[in-house]
Amino acid sequence: MRLAGKVAIISGGSRGMGAFEAELFVNEGAKVVVGDVREDEGRALAEKIGGDAVFVRLDVTSEEDWAAAVKEAADRYGKLDILVNNAGVSARGSIEETTGVDWDRVMDINAKGVFLGTKTAIPEMRKAGGGSIINISSQLGLVGMNESSPQYQASKGAVRIFTKSAAVQCASEGIRVNSVHPGPIVTPMTEARRSDAAVQQVMVSRIPLGRYGESEDVAYGVLYLASDESSFVTGSELVIDGGWTAQ
Ligand code: NAD
Repeated sequence: MRLAGKVAIISGGSRGMGAFEAELFVNEGAKVVVGDVREDEGRALAEKIGGDAVFVRLDVTSEEDWAAAVKEAADRYGKLDILVNNAGVSARGSIEETTGVDWDRVMDINAKGVFLGTKTAIPEMRKAGGGSIINISSQLGLVGMNESSPQYQASKGAVRIFTKSAAVQCASEGIRVNSVHPGPIVTPMTEARRSDAAVQQVMVSRIPLGRYGESEDVAYGVLYLASDESSFVTGSELVIDGGWTAQ
């Protein structure tokens, strides 16, 4: 098993890619704390997975919630080895349509949430002698696209460079920090976009492999970065986008 004996927190783990990763991690031998603001879905998921997973209410913009989630990992499972900063929200609109409130909301969840999670996890990982932090950015943290929004793309760009900053700072303590850049993936987040045939056609036309990705396409990349197989990998960008950014 690729994560035998490891303890992980996955933010935004109640549904979508985070939920898939929670199940995969447990199947690979980890204990998982699923943190999310979606309580019913998160509790149902933890119950389905069984004793090796627990749900905690975690709003990633709250320092208190992060402290409680890390404490739950340490109290219940004894330590913290892995943090997947996966929680995120999307948004659409042009620069002129976007208000300051719209900007702040997405930046708070997608960018500040990653900073707060990383900051809170470091001391517990230090106690464990090291760890792996995986920050979920996007292909839109690498290139621009009209059909997204300025704040979503800026937040994902922030995650990319924050990852490198943290990787350099934490390397001497054996804490690795990497970013993952998914392209369009079939999850609840993309449901509205996928049900609009015209938008769907535009999106798929930009993907050389000719299809949306599935949660498992991303989860196996996250699993690699979480495991000791990637012990010489830090500050890197794992792009899983069907070729979107290759053109
Ligand atoms: P999703 O909407 O299915 O799941 C996201 C989860 O994050 C939800 O369970 C939601 O409740 C949670 N969340 C939102 N705000 C939160 C908060 N303040 N605190 C805690 N949890 C919160 O989305 P997904 O597609 O599985 O996306 C997962 C990550 O991947 C996100 O960061 C997203 O931006 C990124 N991403 C998604 C795609 C895609 O096409 N789906 C592409 C690139 C990147």
